[in-house]
Amino acid sequence: MATIIDGRSLAKTINTQTSKRVAKLNQQGIHPGIAVVIAGDDSASLIYTRNKHKKAMKLGINSVLKKYPFNVSQDELLAEIDKLNKDDSIDAILVQQPMPPQIDSRIITNAISPEKDVDGLNPLNLGKLFANQNTNYPIACTPRGIMRMLEEYNVKLKGQNVVIIGRSILVGKPLLALLNNADATVTMAGRSTTNLSRLTQTADILIVAAGVPHLISAKDIKAGATVIDVGINRLSTGKLTGDVDFDSAKEKAGLITPVPGGVGPMTIATLMEQTVDLAQWRHHG
Ligand code: NAD
Repeated sequence: MATIIDGRSLAKTINTQTSKRVAKLNQQGIHPGIAVVIAGDDSASLIYTRNKHKKAMKLGINSVLKKYPFNVSQDELLAEIDKLNKDDSIDAILVQQPMPPQIDSRIITNAISPEKDVDGLNPLNLGKLFANQNTNYPIACTPRGIMRMLEEYNVKLKGQNVVIIGRSILVGKPLLALLNNADATVTMAGRSTTNLSRLTQTADILIVAAGVPHLISAKDIKAGATVIDVGINRLSTGKLTGDVDFDSAKEKAGLITPVPGGVGPMTIATLMEQTVDLAQWRHHG
C-alpha cells in the first residue's frame, strides 16, 4: 500500500510562506501583482481562473483579470500583453489556455516579457531551463510543483528511470529538462509510443500527463514506484479523476498522488510563489 502524497497540505505550507513573503515585500513598498488574460467562456478555464484570482487575493497578491470574448483578435490580445508588459504594478502575466482557434498561442506567449512570464513558456526561459542555467528565471508551475513534491517526499532522482507520459510544452517538456538536470534517466512517451505498458513498468518514477482517464493502472506500474498523476478529467458522472486508476495503483506503488488533492493544489501554490519570486527578482535582481 503506497504512501499518499498530500499535495493539499504541502500547498498550504507553501501558501503560508508566500503570504509572509508578500507582507515583507509590502513593507519595502513592493506589492506583487499578477494579471490573468482569458478569452472565451470555456467553463473549466473560468473556474481555474477564478480560483487563481481568489487565491492571489487571499495571499495579499494583487490580481487583475483581463477577460476577452471568444472572437477576440490576435492584435487585441497582443496590445493587452504590451500594456501589461509596461505596467509597473504587474509582475506576472498568465494567458489561460486554451485560446480560441484564431489565436496562435505561441505568438502570444512569445510576446510576454520574459521577466513577467510566470508560466515559464517564453522560449528564452525554456532555453535557460534546457541549458540548466544557474540564474533566476520562471519555470512552468506544474513541473516546478512536482519537483517540490518529489523533494519533500525525499524521492531519489539521480540515476533513476523516469517515464513521463505527455509531451506538452506546459507539463511534459519542462519536466523532462528538470529531471534531466537532476541527473535522472528520462524517457518521454506520447500518443505514438508503442507498447506503453512495457515502458512504464521500467519506471522508478512514473509521471502521467496525458489527459486520458485511467490510462495507467496497477499492471503498468513497477512495484514500489513513485506515481505522479497530473491528469484532470471530468467524467460524465461529474466526478473528477486523474490519468491513473488510483484504487488499483495505490496497492502497487510506493508513493502516489491522488486526484484531486495532489498536483492540482501544488500548481496554484507554485504559481503564487513564482509571482512573488518575479516581483522580488524585478525589484532586487
Ligand atoms: P496536452 O493535451 O497538451 O498533451 C497531452 C499529451 O499526452 C500529448 O503529448 C499526447 O501525445 C499525450 N497522450 C495523449 N493520449 C495519450 C495516450 N493514450 N498514450 C500516451 N500519450 C498520450 O495536455 P497537457 O496540457 O499537458 O495536460 C495533460 C493533462 O494534465 C490534462 O488532463 C490536463 O487537464 C492536466 N493538467 C493538470 C494540471 C494540474 O495542475 N494538475 C496542469 C496542467 C495540465
